Amino acid sequence: MADILYLVVPCYNEEEALPISAEKLIEKLGTLISDGKVSPDSRIVLVDDGSRDKTWQLIEAFCGRENSLFCGVKLSRNRGHQNALMAGLDYARKHCDMAVSLDADLQDDIDAIDGFVEKYYEGCDIVYGVRSSRATDTAFKRGTAGAFYKLMTAMGADIVDNHADYRLMSRRALDSLFDFGEVNLFLRGIVPQIGYPTAKVYYERHERVAGDSKYPLKKMLAFAFEGITSFSVRPIKMVWGAGAFIAGLAAAAMLVLAILLIWLEISGLWFVALTVLFALGINLVAIGVVGEYIGKIYMETKHRPRFIVEKTLPQNKN
Ligand code: UDP
Ligand code: MG
Repeated sequence: MADILYLVVPCYNEEEALPISAEKLIEKLGTLISDGKVSPDSRIVLVDDGSRDKTWQLIEAFCGRENSLFCGVKLSRNRGHQNALMAGLDYARKHCDMAVSLDADLQDDIDAIDGFVEKYYEGCDIVYGVRSSRATDTAFKRGTAGAFYKLMTAMGADIVDNHADYRLMSRRALDSLFDFGEVNLFLRGIVPQIGYPTAKVYYERHERVAGDSKYPLKKMLAFAFEGITSFSVRPIKMVWGAGAFIAGLAAAAMLVLAILLIWLEISGLWFVALTVLFALGINLVAIGVVGEYIGKIYMETKHRPRFIVEKTLPQNKN
């Protein structure tokens, strides 16, 4: 008997993409089931992340079909992609042997799922989908994403290059994921910390099937910052290093100035004023960075729930 696969799809204002992508996902899962690769108990979990459009009504309609392969999870409000994904995975892990997370816009090639499942049967607990090319992304997105991966690695976070959140996880890997208690979520950084046998599957990234990106630059920058500060204390060390360097430089400059003043008539005031301003700026940066970490500690100590599930479909299953 084949194992149960759950596809977990976070959806935020996806009324345009969902009708297209849901059909494609059903077709994919249907083929996997009829080929005997996964169990007929496999399902597609659509998580509505507090959408303001008709996304939930669509999900209800999909779940209401005869012999529907869909399940729905409705969050009480918009909590962001990572939290919505966690809500879906939490639901899935109670029913599945393996779960694949993917976006509602099907930018990630769903034919790669066959490869994921194959690796799972070979004994891998985590299979990362890795983009072999970013040809369909805008030059801006490519550039910023490239810089992000480089920055993350330089900052000491252990992340898989060119991997977003398209991956398969076995139930035991999922259970381990939920042992991580942090509220500030950056899954790409957490998943490699889990361990277990892993593999990579390469695929081409497509255009969105419909609708616009729900990740504008502002959200992307916040996400990158979240990633760095969640996994590395290197920024604090860098500020410390920069502070020491600047203090040393200022001390040396003052010494030179003192010596020059013996022979020349320069007003030392200018230099002093500049040094003070410079030091003030550096101080503010340092306080800001430290404050960021303190803010994180504050949020973590609250132990707020990551998400609140409002309802699930079908109703007799939770
Ligand atoms: N998404 C979500 N909550 C949000 C923003 C996005 O659940 O607050 C979902 C969205 O519906 C999609 C996935 O996260 O399924 C990725 O978003 P998108 O495709 O807009 O991001 P991009 O590919 O442009 O980075
Ligand atoms: Mg997308």
